[in-house]
Amino acid sequence: HDLPDILGTIDEEVRRRFGEGRVADYIPALASVPKERFGMALVTLDGEVHAVGDAREPFSIQSMSKVHTLTMALEAVGDRLWRRLGREPSGDPFNSLIQLEHEKGIPRNPFINAGAMVVADVILSHCDRPEHALLDFVRARSGNPRIGRDEEIWASERRSGYRNVALANFIRSFDNIENDVDAVLDFYYLQCALRMDCVDLARSVRYLAADGRCESSGERVTSEEQATRINAIMLTCGTYDAAGDFAFHVGLPAKSGVGGGIVAVVPSVMSLCVWSPALDEKGNSLLGGYALHRFTRMTGLSVF
Ligand code: GLN
Repeated sequence: HDLPDILGTIDEEVRRRFGEGRVADYIPALASVPKERFGMALVTLDGEVHAVGDAREPFSIQSMSKVHTLTMALEAVGDRLWRRLGREPSGDPFNSLIQLEHEKGIPRNPFINAGAMVVADVILSHCDRPEHALLDFVRARSGNPRIGRDEEIWASERRSGYRNVALANFIRSFDNIENDVDAVLDFYYLQCALRMDCVDLARSVRYLAADGRCESSGERVTSEEQATRINAIMLTCGTYDAAGDFAFHVGLPAKSGVGGGIVAVVPSVMSLCVWSPALDEKGNSLLGGYALHRFTRMTGLSVF
């Protein structure tokens, strides 16, 4: 495949559709991000990087961080994690409270907000300095020591996180959070508020295309088996209640964030990240999803 050529074509096609979708507005700091941005980056298994458009502009990674924290929690407690967390698609919005009551505080999967809070709780219980551990993880995976949090977004998340406060307390009432609820939420807001660009992000999940090995640090991040399983959960749950449609149109394990980013994995081939801030009604990047759809159509690269 002529990857630079394919990325160039996608960039042109996406820019013609600028204006569609709506930027996330649940916090003011995200509502002010300009809509007309598009970046796409991919990293192949031999470390080749191709990027186009605004791929080097940092943005708020939001729920894409749920992939990194899930990996950390699995490394900490292994399959015991699944006693506190399911792995079924929820079919409900990412910040929904509805299933938690029936399921007695066991979130459906690690990629909805409720699930990510249980994952955060596990990390808090197993790391002395959880916030450093997370920063070290994303910096080492992407080979960029400058990654940090966006202070404005972090403060905005904390100030207006009413639903997240409700979710964490509700889970706590079922004893499925063991640390202080505010500490869990602070960690969760930090992970959402990390700022990275498409190249950093594509690199940061490359281990999921490479049987669990990280190229930039040379480390084994997770086992081959866990990498396979994380990919499976990304495919079935990574884009929330649009995961079925996403599998249909794109056919890759992927994880979105309301900042407009989506990371995706072609197992044994490459990892990718697309970014365009305007979202569809399910909270996934509208043009980012379109770009990945075009990419898998043009290359024939999908898990199917
Ligand atoms: N910060 C967002 C929230 O907690 C993250 C959600 C997302 O990216 N889907 O609601």
